[in-house]
Amino acid sequence: MIYDLHSHTTASDGSLSPAELVQRAVERRVDVFAITDHDTTDGLQEGHETIAEMQLPLTLINGVEVSTNWQNHEIHVVGLNVDIANPALQAFLAEQRNKREERAVEMGNRLAKARIIGAYDGAKALAGDASITRSHFAQYLVEQGVENTFQNVFKRFLAKGKTGYVPPNWATIEQTIEIIHQSGGQAVLAHPLQYKLSTKWFKRLLTAFAEAGGDAMEVGQPQQGITERTQLATYARDYNLSGSVGSDFHRPSSWTELGRNLYIPKDCTPVWSSWPEIDTKRVSTAEQSA
Ligand code: AMP
Ligand code: MN
Ligand code: MN
Ligand code: MN
Repeated sequence: MIYDLHSHTTASDGSLSPAELVQRAVERRVDVFAITDHDTTDGLQEGHETIAEMQLPLTLINGVEVSTNWQNHEIHVVGLNVDIANPALQAFLAEQRNKREERAVEMGNRLAKARIIGAYDGAKALAGDASITRSHFAQYLVEQGVENTFQNVFKRFLAKGKTGYVPPNWATIEQTIEIIHQSGGQAVLAHPLQYKLSTKWFKRLLTAFAEAGGDAMEVGQPQQGITERTQLATYARDYNLSGSVGSDFHRPSSWTELGRNLYIPKDCTPVWSSWPEIDTKRVSTAEQSA
């Protein structure tokens, strides 16, 4: 069974529509898949509809990736199995998207002062109805020829402390875990090594996350080697968290793919161990057709 529990669509900063993404997941032999867009669940309905219409052998988990502020760091918390019809969850996510919109306007103002004109309008046009992110600004600046890669745009303009960076005002980790639980989901600490915390601060984060009732942490990303994974699994056990895996797929490229290299280390409890049994009939259909 292949699980991939972290991915993005055009509902936030992914390049594939939910319909395209679920088809790609099936092509890559993923069995259980979560769409986890930034502060929105808007992509999920289309994903479920596509699976039903095309009778795809895929279990789609309702997910979301929430941006939070913790001790001057931006920490991402993935909610899995959330009830997307829950009014409190949707009010919470709408508020997060309001903050995204306000931040985007301010980012445009700051970039304009650095003589980059029209960045807000450009990013907004690229985002359309999607949850607007720094990636949309990066895409616009690359298209304008200001820089040649996303990476370089972030380095020069969008990373913390750079000209176009606006300190965000996201929800706290506690508020986020509470709303994920209220809507029936599990709270997963996303890509824990991406925050580049010292060991001391990393332990503080895990303590805070666990004390706030967090359920799991990601212990497997495609680019991670066995050493990092084993280390993360040990942390997960020490802090009483189960383990999740996800590609954090945003767009097709030579170095990311859905469902690739997402094993969970032995002696780590998978976050899905508490889930109802997956429909094995659909899984075996996938095996037969392969
Ligand atoms: P936001 O949630 O609006 O702050 O945007 C963060 C998103 O920007 C992340 O989810 C990534 O998709 C993308 N991102 C962050 N840092 C980089 C980077 N150095 N290079 C490319 N994309 C990045
Ligand atoms: Mn992103
Ligand atoms: Mn993230
Ligand atoms: Mn992500």
